[in-house]
Amino acid sequence: MEVIKTIEAMKEFSSQARLAGKTIAFVPTMGFFHQGHLSLMREGRRRGDLLIISLFVNPTQFGPSEDFKSYPRDFERDRKMAEEVGVDVLFAPEASAMYPPNHQTIVRVEKVTQTLCGRSRPTHFQGVTTVVTMLFEIVMPHVAIFGEKDYQQLVTIQQMVKDLRMSVEVVGLPTVREADGLAMSSRNTYLPPEERKAALSLYHSLQKAKELLQKGERKADRILHEVKGSLQSEPLIRIDYVQVCDAHTLQDVDRIEGDVVVALAAYLGKTRLIDNLVYRTL
Ligand code: AMP
Repeated sequence: MEVIKTIEAMKEFSSQARLAGKTIAFVPTMGFFHQGHLSLMREGRRRGDLLIISLFVNPTQFGPSEDFKSYPRDFERDRKMAEEVGVDVLFAPEASAMYPPNHQTIVRVEKVTQTLCGRSRPTHFQGVTTVVTMLFEIVMPHVAIFGEKDYQQLVTIQQMVKDLRMSVEVVGLPTVREADGLAMSSRNTYLPPEERKAALSLYHSLQKAKELLQKGERKADRILHEVKGSLQSEPLIRIDYVQVCDAHTLQDVDRIEGDVVVALAAYLGKTRLIDNLVYRTL
């Protein structure tokens, strides 16, 4: 596996690969890998002649009071894990190279970013879409792979690629979970044992939603009531939001008719976790 640290070298590598007719699969990440990241990489390995991943803790997607500084980082561990799953290139640029002092351009997707996490993290998605646009320009992938764990991010990137006619196929993969059901996340490392135990309620509340949906419940408020009630019975949890949304537009629905996502965000102490259930009725 090759580690590339400069934008120029990455562009050169990808240009040459494209000239040689290679298909490039790409997985953007912020590192501190777990099985969720590795599942995206394995899919990339299947889909591309070359698999490129990026490791970049992107400062612009963190709010001023968020965890940019404390976000877990371990380059050596990540490098080894990437190598083991067969990554060809690990691209790890410096923030000062990605955002030189005169950087002035922001890519912002409107409607789908204004709900769910966008309400409590108003500049988060423009940070994501700006950096992903830059990464797509630098890495020049044919296919890019994202996780449904960050469902709103996936929909936002799909919308951006469609609107800007970007020449990349966006693939979404299901959430990988711990044995007990907790969605894997680099942020789970913040949780002391008590909060780690309480965090399971996120998964359990979504399982309750799934049971209701499977039994034929079609009223969103009934689902919301159940999920919120389940979360509220856990004293260590503070709900940020629970919403039932159309899985494509992310607009709230009253009745479940097509594909929906039941999405939630909650705090355990200072740690904010998200999870969701994608329920396809068709
Ligand atoms: P991050 O490093 O947290 O920015 O995540 C990088 C990519 O991994 C994103 O596309 C995430 O949606 C995806 N991802 C994170 N956690 C999981 C998970 N538990 N299962 C599947 N994909 C995930």
